[in-house]
Amino acid sequence: MVEYSKPLPEITPDNKPFWDACKRHELSLQRCQDCGHLRLPSPICQKCLSMNSGWVSVSGRGKVYTWTMIFQRYNPVFADELPYNVAMVELEEGPRLITNIVGCNNEDLRIGMEVEVVFEDVTEEITLPRFKPVS
Ligand code: ZN
Repeated sequence: MVEYSKPLPEITPDNKPFWDACKRHELSLQRCQDCGHLRLPSPICQKCLSMNSGWVSVSGRGKVYTWTMIFQRYNPVFADELPYNVAMVELEEGPRLITNIVGCNNEDLRIGMEVEVVFEDVTEEITLPRFKPVS
């Protein structure tokens, strides 16, 4: 595996199940055990403030909610990729996550574009979820 020099997510006890699922190439969300609300990793349910939660695998499908292009080199390790997209994908199940759209030209990005998750094993420990257009 090529050495990965870009910033990596910080694994915490609260988000570890999410990243463990990514490593298995599964997208997983936290489900509130009291009201059923699905969310990205968070110690507390944003709907009912319950701390009782479990994890469920989800489809990995969604739509581009919004996106932007990065032209400025804010971090030198991204210099080779300029310009690159940063997108917010709204999952079928509701939560929105920040990611990159891969497998399509940046000029072809559209709000509402149907996408599905793909997993990139960037280190031994970390697999990043990215999204590609549904073919
Ligand atoms: Zn809840």
